[in-house]
Amino acid sequence: MTTASNDQFCPICDVPVAPMARYPRYVCAACAAKVVAPDGRPLRFFNLSLSGGFGAKYVAQDEPYDSSICYIDGVRCFADEARFGGIVIQTVS
Ligand SMILES: [Zn+2]
Repeated sequence: MTTASNDQFCPICDVPVAPMARYPRYVCAACAAKVVAPDGRPLRFFNLSLSGGFGAKYVAQDEPYDSSICYIDGVRCFADEARFGGIVIQTVS
């Protein structure tokens, strides 16, 4: 038996994810791929460079998106630069 404290699940679709104490509500890769703006347009979040930085844009229009708030399956989330690179998206509790 594993202890419950070591289990972590995607808050959107409940699949098991790698436990990350720093990001207790981060979404899985499949859900992160479905992220949209409040108006429903698909978004992509990315690092501005290899050393970090956070950027966001509308995928279809290739226009900058000036916010970290996003939605996945109607659930309000926010994106941020992950501590060790990459982007982490978490639900807003
Ligand atoms: Zn998920």
